[in-house]
Amino acid sequence: MSSKAKFQAIRGTRDLLPPETALWNRVEQTAHEVFRTFGFGEIRPPIFEPTELFARSIGLDTDIVAKEMFSFEDYEPSTVFEYRSALVIWHEPRDVQGPPGPLGTGALAKFQPFAALLSLFCLAGRQAFDNGLIPRTPENDSLLNELVGERDIFLSSIQSRNDRENCADVDRLKERIRRLQLGDELTLRPEATASVCRAYIEHSMQQMPQPVKLYYMGAMFRRERPQKGRYRQFYQIGAEVLGGSDAPAIDAEVIELVMTFFARLGLESTELSINSIGHAADNCRRGYVELLRAELTKVKDQLGADSQRRIETNPLRVLDSKLEHEQGIIAKLPKIADHLCDECKTHYAQLKRQLDLRGVKYVENWRLVRGLDYYMRTTFEITARGLGSQNAVCGGGRYDGLVELLGGPPTKGIGFAIGEDRLILSLQEGGKGSVVEGRDVYIAWLGENAYATAIRAAQNLRKAGVSVELPPSEQKFGKALERASKLGARFALILGDNEVSSGEWTLKTLADGTQAKFAEAALLEYLKQKKV
Ligand code: AMP
Repeated sequence: MSSKAKFQAIRGTRDLLPPETALWNRVEQTAHEVFRTFGFGEIRPPIFEPTELFARSIGLDTDIVAKEMFSFEDYEPSTVFEYRSALVIWHEPRDVQGPPGPLGTGALAKFQPFAALLSLFCLAGRQAFDNGLIPRTPENDSLLNELVGERDIFLSSIQSRNDRENCADVDRLKERIRRLQLGDELTLRPEATASVCRAYIEHSMQQMPQPVKLYYMGAMFRRERPQKGRYRQFYQIGAEVLGGSDAPAIDAEVIELVMTFFARLGLESTELSINSIGHAADNCRRGYVELLRAELTKVKDQLGADSQRRIETNPLRVLDSKLEHEQGIIAKLPKIADHLCDECKTHYAQLKRQLDLRGVKYVENWRLVRGLDYYMRTTFEITARGLGSQNAVCGGGRYDGLVELLGGPPTKGIGFAIGEDRLILSLQEGGKGSVVEGRDVYIAWLGENAYATAIRAAQNLRKAGVSVELPPSEQKFGKALERASKLGARFALILGDNEVSSGEWTLKTLADGTQAKFAEAALLEYLKQKKV
């Protein structure tokens, strides 16, 4: 690899560049406008949060928590950290040369330094633990105790073991040492609903007029296998409604909001699927899940490994399966709609009525369960064209218990997240992704006097919102016009000595080559009308 190509964006991440970023800005600007008209205010939560927040809300048996989170330990540099680093990179000296020292030249001389370093680590670790400088968890406490004992055993057995055995012991000890938690476990957010709920609790938003309607936009991080429409850093635009009511009208309005936003952008061929997955009671989802588990167990042998595992951990997720050979089996499984309790049934019926009232078209999909644990009752997903297998552009649903699960007051909630990357892709595929880029005006100036005038003209035009390219050095007019076309400028303002002395400026329309003369004020007025 040449030295120039050494640094590249990390797999699954990418640079968003102009002119495409103008489309991103248009999408985000439209979101701000549409969301405001539905009474939503913007929240900007931090990009990282305690790992526990996501683990608890999203659920342990989800792909996100089990294998996709970008997590790291957050700690202050300390002596414990330095000893830990020294220990984990320690390797035995190849050959201990020289006259026998107090430890001789054998195994003890080679491996005793590791044991000595481990003693210092245990001592510093215990002190840091006692002073609260590292997390005072039971795991840390017992690990520190055990390491002291393991060090003693290691030290006393060095001489009776060969190098290979001692090295294996060192590796095992290193593994244990790595487990000492030096700081908080943090995670780059894989989604933002948990953060919004955390903020709702932290800022006592239940005391504000209910429901609280919030929206956000920004980067999310999941260690997924990258492909078209699936990235490790991707962007979501989402909204949440939190408060005391779970009226189906709220669900319907949230869905209407997304559909309005998509329509405003000109996104075509979208399809909205809805479902109700009931609530946790025995006579509702819990009963259905048990039934599903029993039915799935009967056909276990015909299912793939993932589905087999999910029979135990989360049978609803089997309905998500995209495996060709499982489709026929899944089609014969009992449907949740036939097992909803009366309350959930009514809620679902009212949701459909509310959508009809709003003229929102939908299809029902009994297999739409959504991947995350916190959903209940209403779930929905919107697909769009031109996205191949990754065609879900928005997913959402109701999550009434989530705020409480995170330590807050009983609160109802519903929300959604739009995949902005996919939204942009679909707009581009549908021919709705073009954005006017390029400058309004290129100032072709020649001569010192003209330059001073050109600077002033550029300032005035920019103040009026006209985009201006002012070349930093003099160019022959021919060259200047060439560059103006290359940059996609619509007009060239020609300023030479004649123009400056006469006060009559020449404006060339680059598309057709026509020219017209203007006085300064008239030109400014004309370009203000014409600006992009
Ligand atoms: P989720 O938070 O999984 O419900 O996802 C909501 C939406 O975010 C999906 O419908 C996708 O449009 C988008 N999305 C999820 N994961 C990714 C990813 N890895 N890359 C791009 N978009 C994603």
